[in-house]
Amino acid sequence: MSIIFLNGAYVRAEDARISPFDRGFTFGEGVYEVCIAVNGNFVDAPAHLARLDRSLAACGITAPPERVELHSIMKELLQKNDVRTGLVYLQVTSGVSPRNFTTCPEGRSTLMMLAQASDFEQTPAFRDGIHVQLQEDIRWLHRDIKTTMLLPQVMAKRNALANGVSDTLFYDALGITEGASSNVFLVDGHGTLVTRPLSNLLLAGCTRERILELAQEAGFVIDERPIQRAELATAAECFVTSATYLVAPVLSVDGRAIADGKAGQVTRRLQHLYCAYIAGEGRACADI
Ligand code: PMP
Repeated sequence: MSIIFLNGAYVRAEDARISPFDRGFTFGEGVYEVCIAVNGNFVDAPAHLARLDRSLAACGITAPPERVELHSIMKELLQKNDVRTGLVYLQVTSGVSPRNFTTCPEGRSTLMMLAQASDFEQTPAFRDGIHVQLQEDIRWLHRDIKTTMLLPQVMAKRNALANGVSDTLFYDALGITEGASSNVFLVDGHGTLVTRPLSNLLLAGCTRERILELAQEAGFVIDERPIQRAELATAAECFVTSATYLVAPVLSVDGRAIADGKAGQVTRRLQHLYCAYIAGEGRACADI
Protein backbone atom coordinates (compact mmCIF):
# COMPACT_ATOMS: atom_id res chain seq x y z
CA MET A 1 0.00 0.00 0.00
CA SER A 2 1.59 3.24 -1.02
CA ILE A 3 2.01 6.25 1.27
CA ILE A 4 2.09 9.67 -0.32
CA PHE A 5 2.85 13.09 1.13
CA LEU A 6 0.02 15.56 0.58
CA ASN A 7 -0.07 19.11 1.96
CA GLY A 8 1.81 18.49 5.16
CA ALA A 9 0.77 14.90 5.94
CA TYR A 10 1.74 11.35 5.05
CA VAL A 11 -1.43 9.56 3.94
CA ARG A 12 -2.38 6.31 2.25
CA ALA A 13 -2.77 6.98 -1.48
CA GLU A 14 -6.37 5.73 -1.44
CA ASP A 15 -7.26 8.16 1.35
CA ALA A 16 -5.75 11.23 -0.35
CA ARG A 17 -8.14 14.02 -1.35
CA ILE A 18 -7.41 16.84 -3.78
CA SER A 19 -10.08 19.44 -4.53
CA PRO A 20 -11.77 19.41 -7.96
CA PHE A 21 -11.06 23.16 -7.88
CA ASP A 22 -7.33 22.60 -7.64
CA ARG A 23 -5.81 24.69 -10.43
CA GLY A 24 -3.45 21.86 -11.28
CA PHE A 25 -6.57 19.93 -12.29
CA THR A 26 -8.58 22.72 -13.95
CA PHE A 27 -5.75 24.66 -15.63
CA GLY A 28 -2.68 22.43 -15.55
CA GLU A 29 -1.09 25.12 -13.38
CA GLY A 30 1.55 22.94 -11.84
CA VAL A 31 5.21 21.97 -11.95
CA TYR A 32 7.02 18.78 -10.98
CA GLU A 33 10.30 17.00 -10.40
CA VAL A 34 11.46 13.41 -10.54
CA CYS A 35 14.51 12.64 -8.43
CA ILE A 36 15.95 9.16 -8.14
CA ALA A 37 17.45 7.49 -5.10
CA VAL A 38 20.08 4.78 -5.10
CA ASN A 39 20.49 2.76 -1.93
CA GLY A 40 18.42 5.25 0.00
CA ASN A 41 20.28 8.37 -1.14
CA PHE A 42 19.17 10.90 -3.70
CA VAL A 43 21.07 11.70 -6.88
CA ASP A 44 21.63 15.41 -7.50
CA ALA A 45 18.77 16.44 -5.23
CA PRO A 46 20.05 20.04 -4.91
CA ALA A 47 19.93 20.44 -8.71
CA HIS A 48 16.36 19.06 -8.85
CA LEU A 49 15.19 21.32 -6.03
CA ALA A 50 16.88 24.34 -7.62
CA ARG A 51 15.07 23.57 -10.89
CA LEU A 52 11.80 23.23 -8.95
CA ASP A 53 12.36 26.75 -7.58
CA ARG A 54 13.02 28.05 -11.11
CA SER A 55 9.84 26.38 -12.43
CA LEU A 56 7.75 27.76 -9.56
CA ALA A 57 9.11 31.27 -10.07
CA ALA A 58 8.58 31.13 -13.84
CA CYS A 59 4.89 30.20 -13.35
CA GLY A 60 4.35 32.58 -10.44
CA ILE A 61 3.40 29.69 -8.14
CA THR A 62 4.11 30.26 -4.45
CA ALA A 63 6.52 27.70 -3.03
CA PRO A 64 4.82 25.22 -0.69
CA PRO A 65 5.35 25.86 3.03
CA GLU A 66 7.38 22.63 3.20
CA ARG A 67 9.98 23.94 0.71
CA VAL A 68 12.86 24.12 3.20
CA GLU A 69 12.32 20.56 4.44
CA LEU A 70 11.65 18.93 1.07
CA HIS A 71 14.82 16.89 1.13
CA SER A 72 14.03 15.31 4.49
CA ILE A 73 10.41 14.68 3.45
CA MET A 74 11.73 12.94 0.33
CA LYS A 75 13.89 10.71 2.50
CA GLU A 76 11.09 9.91 4.90
CA LEU A 77 8.77 9.08 2.01
CA LEU A 78 11.28 6.53 0.73
CA GLN A 79 11.46 4.96 4.17
CA LYS A 80 7.70 4.87 4.66
CA ASN A 81 7.33 3.09 1.32
CA ASP A 82 10.27 0.77 1.94
CA VAL A 83 12.02 2.01 -1.19
CA ARG A 84 15.84 2.01 -1.30
CA THR A 85 16.33 2.41 -5.04
CA GLY A 86 13.60 4.17 -6.94
CA LEU A 87 12.18 7.60 -7.52
CA VAL A 88 10.35 10.37 -5.78
CA TYR A 89 7.82 12.27 -7.86
CA LEU A 90 7.04 15.71 -6.50
CA GLN A 91 4.29 17.97 -7.83
CA VAL A 92 3.34 21.50 -6.82
CA THR A 93 0.24 23.25 -8.11
CA SER A 94 -0.88 26.79 -7.37
CA GLY A 95 -3.71 25.49 -5.16
CA VAL A 96 -7.47 25.89 -5.01
CA SER A 97 -9.53 28.77 -6.46
CA PRO A 98 -12.88 29.20 -8.24
CA ARG A 99 -12.50 28.16 -11.87
CA ASN A 100 -11.50 31.49 -13.25
CA PHE A 101 -8.32 32.10 -15.23
CA THR A 102 -6.96 34.96 -13.18
CA THR A 103 -8.18 34.37 -9.63
CA CYS A 104 -5.28 33.75 -7.28
CA PRO A 105 -5.71 30.90 -4.81
CA GLU A 106 -6.22 32.09 -1.25
CA GLY A 107 -4.85 28.99 0.42
CA ARG A 108 -1.55 27.20 0.16
CA SER A 109 -0.09 25.71 -3.00
CA THR A 110 -0.76 21.98 -3.29
CA LEU A 111 2.21 19.69 -2.71
CA MET A 112 1.99 15.99 -3.55
CA MET A 113 4.89 13.55 -3.42
CA LEU A 114 5.03 9.82 -4.09
CA ALA A 115 7.75 7.18 -4.06
CA GLN A 116 8.15 4.21 -6.39
CA ALA A 117 10.72 1.41 -6.42
CA SER A 118 12.64 0.89 -9.65
CA ASP A 119 16.03 -0.52 -10.56
CA PHE A 120 17.19 1.92 -13.23
CA GLU A 121 20.35 0.01 -14.11
CA GLN A 122 18.34 -3.11 -14.92
CA THR A 123 15.81 -1.64 -17.34
CA PRO A 124 15.82 -2.89 -20.96
CA ALA A 125 16.38 0.74 -22.08
CA PHE A 126 19.55 1.04 -20.02
CA ARG A 127 20.86 -2.45 -20.72
CA ASP A 128 19.89 -2.94 -24.36
CA GLY A 129 19.01 0.51 -25.72
CA ILE A 130 15.91 1.99 -27.32
CA HIS A 131 14.42 2.46 -30.77
CA VAL A 132 12.89 5.89 -31.36
CA GLN A 133 10.96 7.92 -33.89
CA LEU A 134 11.20 11.60 -34.80
CA GLN A 135 8.33 14.03 -34.52
CA GLU A 136 8.05 17.75 -35.06
CA ASP A 137 8.19 19.60 -31.75
CA ILE A 138 4.75 21.15 -31.48
CA ARG A 139 5.03 22.08 -27.80
CA TRP A 140 4.91 25.59 -26.40
CA LEU A 141 8.04 27.74 -26.23
CA HIS A 142 8.74 27.42 -22.50
CA ARG A 143 10.07 23.90 -22.40
CA ASP A 144 12.64 25.03 -19.83
CA ILE A 145 9.79 25.05 -17.28
CA LYS A 146 9.09 21.57 -15.92
CA THR A 147 5.33 21.88 -16.06
CA THR A 148 2.77 19.12 -15.55
CA MET A 149 1.19 20.10 -18.91
CA LEU A 150 2.51 16.95 -20.54
CA LEU A 151 -0.16 16.13 -23.12
CA PRO A 152 2.19 16.51 -26.14
CA GLN A 153 4.65 14.13 -24.49
CA VAL A 154 1.94 11.62 -23.60
CA MET A 155 0.67 11.70 -27.19
CA ALA A 156 4.19 11.41 -28.63
CA LYS A 157 5.05 8.43 -26.43
CA ARG A 158 1.75 6.68 -27.16
CA ASN A 159 2.29 7.30 -30.86
CA ALA A 160 5.79 5.81 -30.57
CA LEU A 161 4.37 2.64 -29.00
CA ALA A 162 1.70 2.44 -31.71
CA ASN A 163 4.54 2.59 -34.26
CA GLY A 164 6.47 -0.21 -32.57
CA VAL A 165 9.21 1.93 -31.00
CA SER A 166 9.64 3.04 -27.42
CA ASP A 167 10.08 6.82 -27.52
CA THR A 168 9.96 9.99 -29.58
CA LEU A 169 12.64 12.60 -30.18
CA PHE A 170 11.38 16.07 -31.07
CA TYR A 171 12.88 18.38 -33.70
CA ASP A 172 12.40 21.97 -34.75
CA ALA A 173 13.85 24.07 -37.60
CA LEU A 174 17.31 24.04 -35.97
CA GLY A 175 17.50 20.29 -35.29
CA ILE A 176 16.72 17.87 -32.46
CA THR A 177 15.37 19.71 -29.41
CA GLU A 178 15.09 16.85 -26.89
CA GLY A 179 13.34 13.56 -26.26
CA ALA A 180 9.76 13.44 -24.98
CA SER A 181 11.21 12.95 -21.48
CA SER A 182 14.97 13.12 -21.98
CA ASN A 183 17.88 15.08 -23.45
CA VAL A 184 19.61 13.82 -26.58
CA PHE A 185 23.33 13.37 -27.30
CA LEU A 186 25.08 12.32 -30.48
CA VAL A 187 28.65 11.07 -30.82
CA ASP A 188 30.14 12.12 -34.16
CA GLY A 189 32.78 10.30 -36.23
CA HIS A 190 35.57 12.01 -34.25
CA GLY A 191 34.18 10.98 -30.87
CA THR A 192 32.88 14.48 -30.10
CA LEU A 193 29.77 14.66 -27.92
CA VAL A 194 27.11 16.89 -29.44
CA THR A 195 24.03 18.11 -27.59
CA ARG A 196 21.67 21.04 -27.95
CA PRO A 197 22.65 24.11 -25.89
CA LEU A 198 20.24 25.16 -23.17
CA SER A 199 17.54 27.69 -24.03
CA ASN A 200 13.81 28.09 -23.55
CA LEU A 201 13.36 25.34 -26.19
CA LEU A 202 14.38 22.40 -24.00
CA LEU A 203 14.51 21.31 -20.39
CA ALA A 204 17.81 21.77 -18.55
CA GLY A 205 18.17 18.12 -17.60
CA CYS A 206 19.99 17.45 -14.35
CA THR A 207 21.36 14.22 -15.86
CA ARG A 208 22.48 16.13 -18.99
CA GLU A 209 24.41 18.54 -16.79
CA ARG A 210 26.09 15.76 -14.83
CA ILE A 211 26.96 13.78 -17.97
CA LEU A 212 28.57 16.88 -19.51
CA GLU A 213 30.66 17.32 -16.38
CA LEU A 214 31.70 13.66 -16.23
CA ALA A 215 32.47 13.60 -19.97
CA GLN A 216 34.60 16.71 -19.68
CA GLU A 217 36.53 15.23 -16.75
CA ALA A 218 37.08 12.08 -18.81
CA GLY A 219 38.59 14.16 -21.62
CA PHE A 220 35.77 14.07 -24.19
CA VAL A 221 35.38 16.99 -26.56
CA ILE A 222 31.94 18.56 -26.21
CA ASP A 223 30.12 20.63 -28.79
CA GLU A 224 26.88 22.22 -27.58
CA ARG A 225 24.98 22.88 -30.79
CA PRO A 226 21.76 21.60 -32.36
CA ILE A 227 21.97 18.08 -33.81
CA GLN A 228 20.71 18.09 -37.41
CA ARG A 229 18.29 15.31 -38.28
CA ALA A 230 20.50 14.35 -41.25
CA GLU A 231 23.45 13.83 -38.91
CA LEU A 232 21.75 10.82 -37.35
CA ALA A 233 22.46 8.88 -40.56
CA THR A 234 26.21 9.25 -40.08
CA ALA A 235 26.40 9.39 -36.27
CA ALA A 236 28.74 6.97 -34.53
CA GLU A 237 26.42 6.81 -31.49
CA CYS A 238 23.35 8.41 -30.02
CA PHE A 239 21.97 8.29 -26.49
CA VAL A 240 19.40 9.95 -24.26
CA THR A 241 19.71 11.04 -20.64
CA SER A 242 17.16 11.53 -17.87
CA ALA A 243 16.75 10.80 -14.18
CA THR A 244 15.02 7.49 -14.96
CA TYR A 245 16.74 6.49 -18.23
CA LEU A 246 20.11 7.41 -16.68
CA VAL A 247 21.98 7.04 -20.00
CA ALA A 248 20.12 4.93 -22.60
CA PRO A 249 21.65 3.98 -25.96
CA VAL A 250 19.54 4.90 -29.01
CA LEU A 251 19.83 2.05 -31.50
CA SER A 252 17.66 3.29 -34.35
CA VAL A 253 15.74 6.38 -35.43
CA ASP A 254 12.69 6.08 -37.69
CA GLY A 255 13.72 2.51 -38.54
CA ARG A 256 17.30 3.41 -39.53
CA ALA A 257 20.06 2.00 -37.39
CA ILE A 258 22.56 4.32 -35.71
CA ALA A 259 25.92 2.98 -36.97
CA ASP A 260 25.78 -0.82 -36.51
CA GLY A 261 22.59 -0.64 -34.44
CA LYS A 262 24.31 -1.58 -31.19
CA ALA A 263 25.11 0.43 -28.07
CA GLY A 264 28.41 2.21 -28.71
CA GLN A 265 31.61 2.35 -26.68
CA VAL A 266 31.28 6.00 -25.67
CA THR A 267 27.72 5.44 -24.47
CA ARG A 268 28.79 2.40 -22.45
CA ARG A 269 31.69 4.37 -20.96
CA LEU A 270 29.39 7.22 -19.93
CA GLN A 271 26.90 4.74 -18.46
CA HIS A 272 29.74 3.33 -16.43
CA LEU A 273 30.96 6.77 -15.28
CA TYR A 274 27.43 7.85 -14.39
CA CYS A 275 26.70 4.68 -12.41
CA ALA A 276 29.95 5.10 -10.50
CA TYR A 277 28.94 8.71 -9.86
CA ILE A 278 25.47 7.86 -8.56
CA ALA A 279 26.83 5.10 -6.34
CA GLY A 280 29.30 7.61 -4.86
CA GLU A 281 26.70 10.37 -4.76
CA GLY A 282 24.75 8.19 -2.39
CA ARG A 283 27.66 8.18 0.01
CA ALA A 284 28.60 11.84 -0.51
CA CYS A 285 25.08 13.12 0.06
CA ALA A 286 24.08 10.83 2.89
CA ASP A 287 24.10 13.74 5.32
CA ILE A 288 22.21 16.38 3.30
N1 PMP B 1 13.60 16.79 -21.20
C1 PMP B 1 12.33 16.50 -20.86
C2 PMP B 1 11.23 17.00 -21.74
C3 PMP B 1 12.06 15.74 -19.72
O1 PMP B 1 10.77 15.47 -19.38
C4 PMP B 1 13.13 15.25 -18.95
C5 PMP B 1 12.89 14.38 -17.74
N2 PMP B 1 12.07 14.97 -16.80
C6 PMP B 1 14.45 15.58 -19.32
C7 PMP B 1 14.64 16.35 -20.45
C8 PMP B 1 15.62 15.09 -18.51
O2 PMP B 1 15.72 15.78 -17.30
P1 PMP B 1 16.42 15.09 -16.03
O3 PMP B 1 17.76 14.63 -16.50
O4 PMP B 1 16.53 16.21 -15.05
O5 PMP B 1 15.55 13.98 -15.61
